[in-house]
Amino acid sequence: MINVTKTFLPPQAEYQAILKRAWDKGWMTNRGVLVQELETKLKDYLGVSTIIAMTNGTLPLQIAIKALGLQGEIITTPFSYVATTSSIVWEGCTPVFVDIHPAYLTIDENRIEAAITPKTSAILATHVFGNPCNTEEIETIAQKHGLKVIYDAAHCFGVEYKGKSIFEYGDVSTCSFHATKLFHTGEGGALFCKEEYHEKMFYHHNFGHKGKENFQGVGVNAKMSELQAAMGLSVLPYMEQILAGRKEVIALYKNLLKDTDVKFLKLRPGTLSNYSYFPVIFPSEKKTIAVIEALSEKKIFPRRYFYPSLNTLPYINYSEMLVSESISTKVLCLPLHPDLDAEVVMAISNTIKDVV
Ligand SMILES: *Cc1c(COP(=O)(O)O)cnc(C)c1O
Repeated sequence: MINVTKTFLPPQAEYQAILKRAWDKGWMTNRGVLVQELETKLKDYLGVSTIIAMTNGTLPLQIAIKALGLQGEIITTPFSYVATTSSIVWEGCTPVFVDIHPAYLTIDENRIEAAITPKTSAILATHVFGNPCNTEEIETIAQKHGLKVIYDAAHCFGVEYKGKSIFEYGDVSTCSFHATKLFHTGEGGALFCKEEYHEKMFYHHNFGHKGKENFQGVGVNAKMSELQAAMGLSVLPYMEQILAGRKEVIALYKNLLKDTDVKFLKLRPGTLSNYSYFPVIFPSEKKTIAVIEALSEKKIFPRRYFYPSLNTLPYINYSEMLVSESISTKVLCLPLHPDLDAEVVMAISNTIKDVV
């Protein structure tokens, strides 16, 4: 069986050797040595100025909305994972959708201003499949209208844009270290922010604790555990190998599918990709479903991702988003992991060619 992704597992002995350090200290969470070491190593690896390791990639979004004091309407993208929208709703704000660019699949910056009202407090956009939003234009709009900017950068581990980490853009960026993501800690994630917000975000992720008995405002529990950090520390040394393997698989897919009706994601110029996904867009939903069926007969399971378009969620007041609704019915992320056999990539590509 071939799934859309396969969790990278480091040699178990290496994981256990790191875990032993937590055992020896008898310390499993509350920002122990392993979490602190992981934060230090990630700062260095990613080239970021701040990081707060967290227990998943969704709580950082909720904490960012809370800590920035956002209220009213938040402009967001309908083409993302449900966590982007649900975090807005969970924090008592209203998502206002703006459609996406048909080639980059990120929020269409040219449509943002028309969606701004006196109630708008922020823009929460997703760098889709690691492809950056138009951060310059979004920054300009945000400055002009006094809005905060949060990027859901769950897919962006290691992505650089215009010479620096993508996590350095916006007021806050968040990442997911879920087991299906490029770099992972089983479950896990991180928040990156401008220095001025760091202290507030930090208190929010640890119940508001300021020392043992004092509290600096309200908080939640989003702490990463030592067990999660141990996984991260044992995966991190393999990043180069992981990236090289994925790059090769994508090159092969692109070569095999180049003269077909299948479209690829357009990478924004200035982006250093992390090869985290290989999305392809088919000419119609009918063809997409036919491809899913043909592949599943061979026990190969791509994923409809992102699907459905988030403006169609049952708890949202529906407004039509033509591009996002159309793309979400025609997009598939093809199986991608560093040691996916060339024969499998060929079999998948041939099946796709047969159908389209
Ligand atoms: C994975 C993902 C999340 C959620 O991250 P978790 O670590 O699973 O909580 C949020 N947004 C996007 C775009 C994602 O892909």
